[in-house]
Amino acid sequence: MMSYSDGVKELFESQLADWDLANANYKQLDNVKTRSLIFEDFQVLVQYNPGRITSSAAKVDTKSIEARPCFLCGKNRPAQQRGLAFGSDLTILVNPFPIFRKHLTIVANNHTDQRIGGNMMAMLDLARELPDYQIFYNGPQCGASAPDHFHFQAGNKGFLPIENDFLSETLCKLSVAKDDAELWQWAGYQRGLFSLKSASAERLAEVFDKFCCRFAALQTDRPEPMLNILASYDKGEWIVHLFPRKLHRPTQYFADDDSRILLSPASVDMGGVIITPREKDFLKINKDDLTDIFSQVSLSNNELLPLLMDLL
Ligand SMILES: [Zn+2]
Repeated sequence: MMSYSDGVKELFESQLADWDLANANYKQLDNVKTRSLIFEDFQVLVQYNPGRITSSAAKVDTKSIEARPCFLCGKNRPAQQRGLAFGSDLTILVNPFPIFRKHLTIVANNHTDQRIGGNMMAMLDLARELPDYQIFYNGPQCGASAPDHFHFQAGNKGFLPIENDFLSETLCKLSVAKDDAELWQWAGYQRGLFSLKSASAERLAEVFDKFCCRFAALQTDRPEPMLNILASYDKGEWIVHLFPRKLHRPTQYFADDDSRILLSPASVDMGGVIITPREKDFLKINKDDLTDIFSQVSLSNNELLPLLMDLL
């Protein structure tokens, strides 16, 4: 049987050959403008990507969601879009509105709500089978533009700054190692996050569930605690970055004057590539804006620390 990696390569080649929209949008990445915002110990890239306006400005309230046909359901997808089955429940698709040079959407075969509970093993399976990719999950209230249809996304490794930042001893340190799992804590990164590393998927899923239970107790009015997650696999080990969130969109998103910045942070932004679909935001956004936005949407270290006590 063909490996999933080879299957995805073939899917990309055939979709770019047969599907004009996807072909044009991937070619367009050659013209995407990028800036760097350089902080003391890390950099953040800002990408001007007008193709992402639909996703960044998506109305995700229940009324708007119920009023539109679900764009991830098989019956509503573009005729040219082919899929590659991943197990019996998921289908891998080429994302026609890319941020990454290789950008996938992995969708549930059934129209079912966006929830990570019970789905962490599937995420880790995807990471292991697609070792050239970062797999990411955006919760239904913090980045998913289809909160009503379960999905992951994946983007090629070597693009998100967090991959190298994780290796920086200044930014990220091993905090606890216990029972085949490691907890890594960050400092000076302006985003409240933590990372888990393990060679055991079962152990990671167990630690993840424990964290979710604790975090859910702080967000009891939500369908699930707000999380962005990045997972990858290399040389027999998974690395999972978890961004607990306390706000979906920052105040700048809703401003009706010149201070408006159309930025709707999700996994890719938290991983260090800020997506601005409007050129004026791309040109305007500065380090202070970003520091402020990160502090609005993510937990402070003081909020995060109690959730990590004795987690392993
Ligand atoms: Zn659907």
